[in-house]
Amino acid sequence: MSFVESESRLDPIIDSFERTHNNLRIGITDRCNIRCFYCMPNENIKFLQHKDILTFEEITRFVRVVASAGVNRLRLTGGEPLVRSQLPTLVEMLAAIDGIEDIAMTTNGILLAKHAQDLRNAGLDRLNISLDTINPITFERIARRKGLEQVFEGISAARDAGFARIRINAVAITGIAETEAIPLARFCRDNDLELRFIEFMPLDAEKNWDKPQVITGDTIRKLIESEIGKLESVPPLYPSQPATDFRYLDGKGRLGFIDPISQPFCSNCNRMRITAEGKLRNCLFSTVEWDLRSILRNPDSTDAEILNCVRESIAAKKAGHGIDSEDFQRPRKSMHQIGG
Ligand code: SAM
Ligand code: SF4
Repeated sequence: MSFVESESRLDPIIDSFERTHNNLRIGITDRCNIRCFYCMPNENIKFLQHKDILTFEEITRFVRVVASAGVNRLRLTGGEPLVRSQLPTLVEMLAAIDGIEDIAMTTNGILLAKHAQDLRNAGLDRLNISLDTINPITFERIARRKGLEQVFEGISAARDAGFARIRINAVAITGIAETEAIPLARFCRDNDLELRFIEFMPLDAEKNWDKPQVITGDTIRKLIESEIGKLESVPPLYPSQPATDFRYLDGKGRLGFIDPISQPFCSNCNRMRITAEGKLRNCLFSTVEWDLRSILRNPDSTDAEILNCVRESIAAKKAGHGIDSEDFQRPRKSMHQIGG
């Protein structure tokens, strides 16, 4: 009998600041079909080889092990998860794991129309679709590729497939959000889509991030209130949620703000990440990684070794991302390699 089968509930994964980690983000691939300037380089990208990324079986084993220690929420991300073939098969494998209560995916939506129904049938619970603008010219300026029409088709297909609460994620950047946020917010309100603005973080591959490019959630909120309508705050859906949520006073529409720069939420963090090549990260901004792939690929390794590695990584987690501290160092990897 394996380690996991013999113990249905192991000690939870807790760091030295008493934060319990029940949330795992899984990098499915580092590849993508567009090139958002705040994430990926435009060209000369050295992608991981297929043999270097975790197989579905390796991901599933890893999730089974951490689920035995209380991980119950998963998010599939990347890179663009939908460029990896057979993704519904992975969702089905993950949904069958004891203890997994919620599987979500973040996608740019471009390939969603083709896959939404299969993903839903396989057991995907929730979808976040990234969309920063509803203007095709601005879309192409950001993504450095075309694709807005496909994203719209993806949103419709997701709804037809039965995804109930579809959330739009928009990265807010100075010089873009001032003109794009209002039409986007109206579009979401009119189409019953929840909207979340995310502050731009120093994780762009081209390393152009600087503080003046960060337009705060507060600024966008005030803009929306002056142009569309007053907002009132609503309680978080769950205690560790990074977003501060609001709804319009007329009851039509909900939106939220993820403000890692202006209002860091690290003290409530319950997340860990595994990258596409099987490195465990205890923080988006971690400069250290733990090599799980070599444990997963060692035929003699036990589930206990996997869990020990996870506990070691989480024990080393820092109190916060430290972006504002003088000795802050960006991680070497950028967002598409980490799994945002
Ligand atoms: N390709 C998928 C997508 O775009 O939804 C999933 C991966 S993407 C890295 C995950 C999320 O990170 C997206 O919502 C994206 O907008 C966001 N993101 C990427 N780079 C970012 C940055 N530098 N700062 C803040 N958010 C970023
Ligand atoms: Fe691709 Fe998502 Fe990064 Fe945009 S944010 S380049 S869609 S991985």
